[in-house]
Amino acid sequence: MKRLIRRSAILVLSALTGPLFAASVPTLDAQTALNKGEVSLSGTWGFTWGRWIPLDTIQSSELSVEHVELPNFLLNLGSSQTQKTDNIVQGYGTYVLQIDNLREAFEHPTLFVRYVQDAWQAWWVDSSGEISLLGQSGQIAKRADEQAFRNNTAIIHLPGKSQSGTLVIYLSAYHTSYAGLYGELTIREQETTLRGLLTDLTVRTFLIAVGIYVTIQNLVFYVRRPQEKTLLLLALFAAVILVRAALASGYVDYFIAQPRWATTFFKAEYLLVVWPGIAALHFLLAFFPVRGSRQFMLGVYLFFGALILVTSFAPLSQVTLNLWAYQIGLLVFTALCMITVVRGLVLRLPDARHFLFSITPLVLAVFNDLIAGQMASYNFFIVEYGLFLFLFVQTQIQSTRFVDALKTSEHLSAHLVEEVALKTRQLRLHNERLTEQAVDLSHQNDEIKLIAETDHLTGLLNRQTLDKLSELQFQLAIGYRQPLALVIMDLDHFKAINDTHGHLVGDECLIFVASFLRGYKLRKRDIIARFGGEELVILLADTNLAMATKITQDLCDSLAKTPVTGDHPDIILTASFGIAERISSRAQSVHQLIGFADQALYQAKRHGRNRVEAYDPSGPEAEV
Ligand code: GH3
Ligand code: MG
Ligand code: MG
Repeated sequence: MKRLIRRSAILVLSALTGPLFAASVPTLDAQTALNKGEVSLSGTWGFTWGRWIPLDTIQSSELSVEHVELPNFLLNLGSSQTQKTDNIVQGYGTYVLQIDNLREAFEHPTLFVRYVQDAWQAWWVDSSGEISLLGQSGQIAKRADEQAFRNNTAIIHLPGKSQSGTLVIYLSAYHTSYAGLYGELTIREQETTLRGLLTDLTVRTFLIAVGIYVTIQNLVFYVRRPQEKTLLLLALFAAVILVRAALASGYVDYFIAQPRWATTFFKAEYLLVVWPGIAALHFLLAFFPVRGSRQFMLGVYLFFGALILVTSFAPLSQVTLNLWAYQIGLLVFTALCMITVVRGLVLRLPDARHFLFSITPLVLAVFNDLIAGQMASYNFFIVEYGLFLFLFVQTQIQSTRFVDALKTSEHLSAHLVEEVALKTRQLRLHNERLTEQAVDLSHQNDEIKLIAETDHLTGLLNRQTLDKLSELQFQLAIGYRQPLALVIMDLDHFKAINDTHGHLVGDECLIFVASFLRGYKLRKRDIIARFGGEELVILLADTNLAMATKITQDLCDSLAKTPVTGDHPDIILTASFGIAERISSRAQSVHQLIGFADQALYQAKRHGRNRVEAYDPSGPEAEV
């Protein structure tokens, strides 16, 4: 297959070149060929294959050379003269061209030699017979593996004093598949050449600066947003293109013209034919991921690692002969890039459209460059510029996204602070309201409790509460083995007060008694409750019968001496009191205790009222 491609290439190119024939050295009149300050050396040259013509025979009229059209590849000279060793095409030869009226056309004629990737040596044989070495690149040799290629860019200064002479270029046995003088050769004034060189250098420096900028920008963004893997991949992509552009520019080896580096640069350039395709694919797969794309990319990098190993260990001649393999590699990865984008488009993934628009021209540029690389007459390489443009645009898109994401997050966080502040405020208000409500509720609760527990007329504890509390006190008294005295008081002849002064006054009297009791010197723990009607109960905890009797007697006396306050100071109330104490009465329940106290009260009434009676279990009225 490989041989087939090469043979067909040779056939095609041979047909284009036309027949070769032996003749004298072609002549170029610099004065007549001068056009806009330059003389193009493109055209017919003399050439000998497999022979370096001795310089002293150059001017001989016997000299017979073949004619070739330049620029062109050396490959197209056909296979008959090539020496085949180990299947590697090797050969060497001499290019000759007689130039007349050089002095008329130029003051400091210079020739800018580019794209010659083999060692060469340039001589000038003046018509006077004077011989001078114009320049060389590396060490020429008759065997490819002995040559020492140095750099593919050089400036040759032709002798300005010379009227006419022959330009002789010895070409080393070559290791590249496309050898010879295949770049445009033009004589210009030194100044123009240098200016052109400077312009070219400036453009390339700018391009490389863009590459550096893009790489750094993406790296910086990636460091700030490590979750955006595409930024890193874009940086990687840009770095690869950067190195490729630097090497392909011809200036790296121009400034570092070292034979020992030449091979490395050369091989790196071959690897950099494939690498951008891989970097681009990795970048695109990050945007349009396919199941297993990680493993696939790992495989691709393993393949590339293997390619690096093979390329660095293989002889340079083998590498250059297999340029097609690198180019096919590039084509495969370019196709995969295209497939990835088209798949994204079919699946309607975001960004697929803009990638299609930006990558299609790039793919076309890759094809253009592949074709330009195959043809001597077409040297318009554009992919480099396209790649830089693509990377620049991508970086701007990515950075816009990056900035947007940053803005969004800043906006969100700012908004969040506001939101949190607002919510906090709302919550505080809500909380305050709740607290108020809770206070209200607790007040209401207290009120309800009060209403439930107290008698609404007197404000004393009501019967229900008395039942509850007296039961509790009774149990506590049992637990602590303490006495518990219960006093029932009943106002004397109360019906008469009602009858005389009316029910409202009766009520007022009840209120008075309640406040009298409340103001009386009882302990806080003593309980006063309205038992019903005009009957009240006083519960004296931890108080024995004697003490209770004394307290009650004082109370009875005190009440009888205190007139009802308010509008009725004329009314003097008295009451009868019945006392029962838990231990002395041997009451088994509150209920029983109340019963005993009631019996005592009955006694008090019977014995004339306004008096105190204690329950005596041994007494004649005692009911057990
Ligand atoms: P005694 O000395 O025997 O106790 O005679 P008394 O008139 O007080 O007789 P009793 O205790 O049986 O009568 C209670 C009276 O108290 C009956 C009722 O008219 C009156 N009374 C009961 N509760 C109230 C009340 O809430 N307001 C008023 N104004 N009178 C009440
Ligand atoms: Mg009564
Ligand atoms: Mg009464």
